[in-house]
Amino acid sequence: MDIESLIGRLDLSAKVRLLTGADMWSLPALPEIGLRRLVMSDGPIGVRGEQWSCADPSIALPSPTALAATWDVALVRRAGRLLAREARRKGVHVLLAPTLNLHRSPLGGRHFECFSEDPYLTGELGAAYVEGVQEGGVGTTPKHFVANDFETDRFTVNVRVGEKALREVYLAPFERVVQAGAWGMMAAYNSVNGTTMTEHRALQRDLLKDEWGFDGCVVSDWTAARSTAATAEGGLDVAMPGPSGPWGEKLEAAVREGRVAEEVVDDQVRRVLRLARRVGALEDSSSPSPAPSSPSKDSSGPSSGPAAPSPAAGSAPAVGDTEIDGTALARQVAARSFTLLRNEGGLLPLGTVRSVALIGSAAGEARVMGGGSAQVFPARVVSPLEGLRGRGDVEVRHALGTDPRVRLAPLATPARALFLDATGEILAAHPLAGTEARWIGSLPPDVDPGRLAAVEIRTVHTPGASGPHEFSIAGVGAFTMRIDGHTVFDGTITAEGGDPAAAFLSPPERRITATLAAGTPVELSVRHPTGAFGRMAFVSFTVGHADPSPGDDALIAEAVDVAAGADVAVVVASTTPEVESEGFDRTGLALPGRQDELIARVAGANPRTVVVVNAGSPVEMPWLEQVAAVLLTWFPGQEAGDALADVLFGDAEPGGRLPTTWPVHQSDVPVLNVTPAGGEVAYDEGLFIGYRAWERAGRTPAFWFGHGLGYTTWSYDTIAVTGTTVTVAVTNTGRRAGREVVQFYLAAVDRDPDRPARRLAAFDVVDAGPGQTVVTTVHLPERAFQVWTEEGWRTVSGDYTVEAGRSVADRRLAATVTV
Ligand code: BGC
Repeated sequence: MDIESLIGRLDLSAKVRLLTGADMWSLPALPEIGLRRLVMSDGPIGVRGEQWSCADPSIALPSPTALAATWDVALVRRAGRLLAREARRKGVHVLLAPTLNLHRSPLGGRHFECFSEDPYLTGELGAAYVEGVQEGGVGTTPKHFVANDFETDRFTVNVRVGEKALREVYLAPFERVVQAGAWGMMAAYNSVNGTTMTEHRALQRDLLKDEWGFDGCVVSDWTAARSTAATAEGGLDVAMPGPSGPWGEKLEAAVREGRVAEEVVDDQVRRVLRLARRVGALEDSSSPSPAPSSPSKDSSGPSSGPAAPSPAAGSAPAVGDTEIDGTALARQVAARSFTLLRNEGGLLPLGTVRSVALIGSAAGEARVMGGGSAQVFPARVVSPLEGLRGRGDVEVRHALGTDPRVRLAPLATPARALFLDATGEILAAHPLAGTEARWIGSLPPDVDPGRLAAVEIRTVHTPGASGPHEFSIAGVGAFTMRIDGHTVFDGTITAEGGDPAAAFLSPPERRITATLAAGTPVELSVRHPTGAFGRMAFVSFTVGHADPSPGDDALIAEAVDVAAGADVAVVVASTTPEVESEGFDRTGLALPGRQDELIARVAGANPRTVVVVNAGSPVEMPWLEQVAAVLLTWFPGQEAGDALADVLFGDAEPGGRLPTTWPVHQSDVPVLNVTPAGGEVAYDEGLFIGYRAWERAGRTPAFWFGHGLGYTTWSYDTIAVTGTTVTVAVTNTGRRAGREVVQFYLAAVDRDPDRPARRLAAFDVVDAGPGQTVVTTVHLPERAFQVWTEEGWRTVSGDYTVEAGRSVADRRLAATVTV
């Protein structure tokens, strides 16, 4: 039956029911019209599913900054296809991704979750991601629409931004994904120019829907809808989560009282049903019933939740995605994203080496993803230590050096979560991969939320060393910790800060010390009274642990010794969960703890030192000139260690190019501020963010946008222009096969001083064997020649210089284009 007829069968109360979440992650089913429950899930590096736990693991791809560093639209699209298959396996219809906000300031807490500082690169990769996921029959919600480029006071902050910057910079990637056919969009928490985004009629209704012709569904960010009539009239279609919220009966009343037109509600319902039909959640009685979803090749755990959706009739079929091996793809994307910033004397790839000193806490426990809603639970994580040891032909000696984490890490020993009723009876028990308990939105299906009184983590820990061990509880509420039956903590931890999500994003921590003997197992338990839940459950706490430590001075001295005695030293330096996460911004760009000191000391002991920077966004590197090589691995996803071994030993080339400019000092960064003043952050820099701002300021960063070395060398031979089509020939002048990201920058010859000097206008990835010449042809999009004016988009005719090169600062060939 067509959607209009279905709408005609619904009364007002049934209509409004479809617009608010039934729970944390889904819209309600309406069997009488063939509508199934429509399930949404984060996003973007994997598909977490409805459980916030390892119960149903997910493939964890590298972070979006890493995806962007590949500059490879075909690869990103393939990643999208894999994510669609993961979504279908988990019964998810809509992936809450990709994140299209920009790297305006490197202090942005979710920088790792956004692609780039450049709107064009962001838009192209965003479009490839959307196309890949949706080709698999799963919807997307590009987010967060718009100007949600930092985290501080994100629920209330007003971003003041001029129309030109909004159109040319911040809206541009969203416009691109609408052209690519996105089925959804997520409205941000923040306000733009005085209006909160979920009520922003000018941006949601007039621009997104009317001007751009977006026919999809606008979903609120979680709890971002805070009014009844203004959100509905403002163009928001779905309020998440539910079942409570500003709509429901209140929206029904608003319609009856004439404050909201019934046509508005009809259009909201139309968009929900259209989305449901696209993702296979709405039966189409005129077409054959959808085929069962394809089994997952690398499904790594039991599937829970509703029956897996299938691509709807009329949407593109998920052809060929069963062939994608998730583990192999995660490893390939990681290697292609690793960005070689420096390689003095060609130290990398490592030739024949007998021994490697592998140093750093992140060498043993890789930071594979950033924090917050982007978190997924992979079935396995390969650390650098495991990856390098896996090669077998080199001796790998590991030293911790220093541990920069300010919070204790969870124990990695298998644990159990017990769900207890008020009498202490066990309602259910679930295995945990470590001592972290997290159920957000819903509890495991076999737990009756109405009978729940407490959740307890239990594990047995066998100390590796004798002495004072530290244990911690990170969470909010009452907790009792017992070690071998003795109560060692019994108290209440209260929340800090104003962000409602802080209780799980950065919970306070309490520590205790216990003296334990090596080899003697102890029983550890932490009980947390929760009380009963209605439909929305929230359980979130972590039990941390640290072995007795000789202290950082001794650890650094030991690392220096290990480095001095090895053929090569590899230091893995990282940010911590307290540095890069949703919910708060960074306070500085220095590597946390004493890692800078560790690197400088190791480099002093071994001239063949490689620093692996395991961070989602820029960090200062004061030791840069002292080390032979720097390899940036971003947050590399679950295959981190194997991809690192591939690249260090030359089985794969580091394919990455910076999607964001990398400063020497934080104080050099032209656009830094993320702290609201008077409830507002003003984007006074207008069009000038990223490399555009660095060029205008005349400052030199550590590494420019687009920079990245490979394992071979390239010559840029010829450039030819026909109309706005540009053809470039490049030759691999080295001795091994390689891949090159050919970048095209456009600059008006008669430059308007109020405009950026140049912009990225096209790019392509080419592969060539040694001595081989390859030709690439790109089309410069019309938008590259346009500016936003009070009358709308205007093409600026005249002469332009198009330059092809290896970064925004390393341009090798130039030609003139006339429009
Ligand atoms: C985040 C969104 C996310 C949502 C659901 C919000 O706090 O800003 O990106 O999709 O939560 O987890």
